[in-house]
Amino acid sequence: MAKHLGRRGFLGITGAVAGAGMITQKGCANVKESVPSLKAAGGMRKDIEELVRTTPLVDTHEHLWEESHRIRMKAEKKETPASDFGLLLSHYSDSDLQVAGLSEKDYHMLISRELAPRDKWKLVQPYYERCRHTGYQLCVRESIRALYGETDLRKDNCESISEKLAAQIQPGFYTRILQETANIEYCQVNALDTPIFRETEQPELLAQDLWTIGIASQVNLATLARMAGEPVKTLERAHAVIDLCFDTYGPRAIAVKDQCAYGRRLLFENVPDDTAAPLFERLAKDEKSLSEPEMKAVQDNLFRHCLVKATEYHLPVKLHTGYYAGHGGMPLDRVRRNAGDLCPLLKEFSSTAFVLMHIDYPYQDEAIALAKHYPNAYIDMCWAWIINPSASVRFLKEFIMAAPACKLFTFGGDYMPVELAPGHARVARMGIARALAELLEEGWLAESDAPALADRLMRGNAHEVFDHQRTLRNWKKS
Ligand SMILES: [Zn+2]
Repeated sequence: MAKHLGRRGFLGITGAVAGAGMITQKGCANVKESVPSLKAAGGMRKDIEELVRTTPLVDTHEHLWEESHRIRMKAEKKETPASDFGLLLSHYSDSDLQVAGLSEKDYHMLISRELAPRDKWKLVQPYYERCRHTGYQLCVRESIRALYGETDLRKDNCESISEKLAAQIQPGFYTRILQETANIEYCQVNALDTPIFRETEQPELLAQDLWTIGIASQVNLATLARMAGEPVKTLERAHAVIDLCFDTYGPRAIAVKDQCAYGRRLLFENVPDDTAAPLFERLAKDEKSLSEPEMKAVQDNLFRHCLVKATEYHLPVKLHTGYYAGHGGMPLDRVRRNAGDLCPLLKEFSSTAFVLMHIDYPYQDEAIALAKHYPNAYIDMCWAWIINPSASVRFLKEFIMAAPACKLFTFGGDYMPVELAPGHARVARMGIARALAELLEEGWLAESDAPALADRLMRGNAHEVFDHQRTLRNWKKS
């Protein structure tokens, strides 16, 4: 972990530059005089970059596999993508490649164990060139820069990068990559390979979300049965299973996580038990017997039950909002309603912290409005930095000037391969530094405020809202 440059260090480097000339009243007569000189502004940008580079990040969203799983899969040569450069193009990057023309068949060859790295490069190179300027591919380059000392993927280095990638997969590589290279304090993980909660081997590094998709918002009878130890036939029993999940995992969970927005609207209506119970009984007898509105009614009832439990366990509720991962299927008319759909919940569950993930891109203005208006609405920039780095800089500047700074989390890699987290962290740090520097240069932000603000945005807010220490105490007890 790089040394954390605090407020004193920052002011020490900068000296008295622009802070004294800060614009305190927009439109005041001496605005021109208060704008720092170009030379001072250049120095200030460097200082901000250094401040942001040395401030650790709390990573509020990842899907990382367990480290031991990666090591096993490398040895057994199965499941996770092959341990070569193709892995770096297997998550998010693959979507831009396929939207740029790479066929699905060739993509599978790219991550398979059937082709040598240089043959994989021949396959992917034309498509990589077509989309090399996107945030996803920038993130790949920043990762290989951070991990393998290279600046780009090329024919002449795809083999050596592959060799280094494979050689690094050994005990301790998560700590080396996440903490020592990316300067991340710890990560919050939504494990996609377990139905509700992962019994991680590294709770200090990989805090775990409690995942509510299978038991509520897109209820799955097999998931309920697995938790209950028998088929779940009544709504009352389904509520008991949800209670059991929270009682079992809630004390060790860092948050609740739900991405049902991929399959439905975020309007969770207050469906009473009397209405939902007969629907659930029909569902239990025949999963296909419910109409779409009936299914939604059951999900609404179960998810609201989860919200009651999350509130009881003081767990923030993270909701996917905005843009969809993958390609070729996003219903934008539904996505654009996410922010508006959430207003009734924000109002009704006023003592529950809701975290709207991915800045609701491309509707980030609405996310800012929610964070400004509702005390319990928080926004997470996870994934946003690589969906659209430029829009994320604009968003951060606008958020800082519109909503309380305590309502924002600025980093989540949102990756399964740990190797891509350092690149994402570098892109985020570039963006955070740029946003803060521009606010300073434009005179909206006082230089003396920058260190505390950077610290709050990059780690302080996460420590205030997510109780990592509580989870660690409970892991010790379990
Ligand atoms: Zn995610």
